[in-house]
Amino acid sequence: MSLTVVSLLLCGVLANDPATVQNRRLERDQTMAGALFKAGLDSVTVDGLLGALSASEYELKRARAGDQLRLVIRNGQLDTLEVRRNALNEWLVRRDGDRYVGKKREFEREQKVEVIELKVQSSVWDAAKAAGERPEVAMTLADVFAWDIDFYRDVQKGDTMRAVVEKVFAKGRLLGYGNVLAATYKGSTVGSKNIYRYTLPDGATSYFQRDGMSARKTFLKSPLKFANVTSGFGGRFHPILNYFGSHNGVDYGTPTGTPVWAVADGIVTRAGWDNGGGNMVCVRHVLSLETCYLHLSKINVKLNARVFQKDVIGESGSTGLSTGPHLHFGMKRGGAWVNPLNQNFPRADPLPLAQKVLFGETIAPYDAMLDAQPVASVGGAQSSPSAPSGTTTTQ
Ligand SMILES: [Zn+2]
Repeated sequence: MSLTVVSLLLCGVLANDPATVQNRRLERDQTMAGALFKAGLDSVTVDGLLGALSASEYELKRARAGDQLRLVIRNGQLDTLEVRRNALNEWLVRRDGDRYVGKKREFEREQKVEVIELKVQSSVWDAAKAAGERPEVAMTLADVFAWDIDFYRDVQKGDTMRAVVEKVFAKGRLLGYGNVLAATYKGSTVGSKNIYRYTLPDGATSYFQRDGMSARKTFLKSPLKFANVTSGFGGRFHPILNYFGSHNGVDYGTPTGTPVWAVADGIVTRAGWDNGGGNMVCVRHVLSLETCYLHLSKINVKLNARVFQKDVIGESGSTGLSTGPHLHFGMKRGGAWVNPLNQNFPRADPLPLAQKVLFGETIAPYDAMLDAQPVASVGGAQSSPSAPSGTTTTQ
């Protein structure tokens, strides 16, 4: 896209004024008004355009450097203004008599259900990229396995994951992921896991295993939310210490800023500075259990606040007595420290017996998709609108 002002003669007949087109880009610290004045428009026109943009969900205060403007001027008057931010956000303002009317353009989003397969060589993140997916799908998958798999500790080279996921496209481009409908994980540490998304008669949606047990537990497997960690296991993100005893907990070596999850619902019993522990949060749960998260760089919760499982209560760091960025995670049962890695936590309610048949019918097509060999899946992620991939089914 040209940064310069382009003039286009749309009509050579002198009786008609030619239209002039200007392409511009919002510069750093430039307001929309500033850009429009710079384009040579008068203040009445600029006011009209700004009003029309605000009325069509363009937040003037959030105008961004890089927003692209296309102005068409006809007969000495601004005819249309198009503003493009990205593939999904475009606005059109056009003259209607002596006023301007704006609207945000609507793009059709298309949802497809596809199978993806990740083979871990160095990390789940890299495996997603190698499969031609957007890497955030690794976080999406880590989230649905969070009760059984610790994606910082349990993932090994050679592990494989297959999943039936909703993908959202606009204009043929993959925008992101919707729900994970089914997934399997096969790993040397983890063993074989499977989960299926299922909506119960009361409308609640949950994840179940093939045998009808809930995929959810009262406690998560890991206090760390899987995030944008590009380095593989075995590197500096591996647990730096992992002993239990006088140390009273488990250490996760992880870069400062890694999101820390409340592993279960509860009430915050500590949120603040502790000499050795640095910034520390503790949460009291059911079963007279309490969890503590130490050396945080950031605390997101207040004392006595109610938190829910998977709430990000802070970010990991290296505050207090700490030799490097890590999360110290401790757990007490009835007031005494216990090893969080040795605890077995109950699963949520299983699938009601009356649902078994319907559940089986629901997951059968997912199983068929998971079992099928991926068709031309290698490098097949860049879906184009004219050639949907062979593994696609549309829901
Ligand atoms: Zn520690």
